[in-house]
Amino acid sequence: MDNCVFCKIVAGEIPSKKLYEDDKYLAFFDIAPMAPVHFLVIPKQHILTGISDINDDNADLVAGALKIAARLAKEQGLTSYRIVTNCGPDAGQTVFHLHFHVLGGTTLSNQMA
Ligand code: AMP
Ligand code: ZN
Repeated sequence: MDNCVFCKIVAGEIPSKKLYEDDKYLAFFDIAPMAPVHFLVIPKQHILTGISDINDDNADLVAGALKIAARLAKEQGLTSYRIVTNCGPDAGQTVFHLHFHVLGGTTLSNQMA
């Protein structure tokens, strides 16, 4: 997808601090961390702009991203953490390529909105 920062990261056109990569997924640390541990998990292919695009054809891909997020959180030593996906501009979404934030390493705010 043209002009998508995460597609550019996948393509290696923009550097990132990679945490995990396989043929379908990439995880990398957020450039502007909101917690001591803050990384993003994305499907490499720009199939979904956000979670609102989930459907029967791509639900397995979405679930796979969550499975990797939980595994990486454990590998990072997190026992408590939050997985967030912002959906739409009013929710704070700025990159329209599905991604899950994984945040931890501190006591997280109980503010959900
Ligand atoms: P959202 O605002 O939920 O769409 O999340 C997008 C996230 O991508 C933000 O937390 C940004 O800090 C992060 N981000 C944007 N550009 C980069 C980049 N080049 N490398 C790592 N993270 C990035
Ligand atoms: Zn993209």
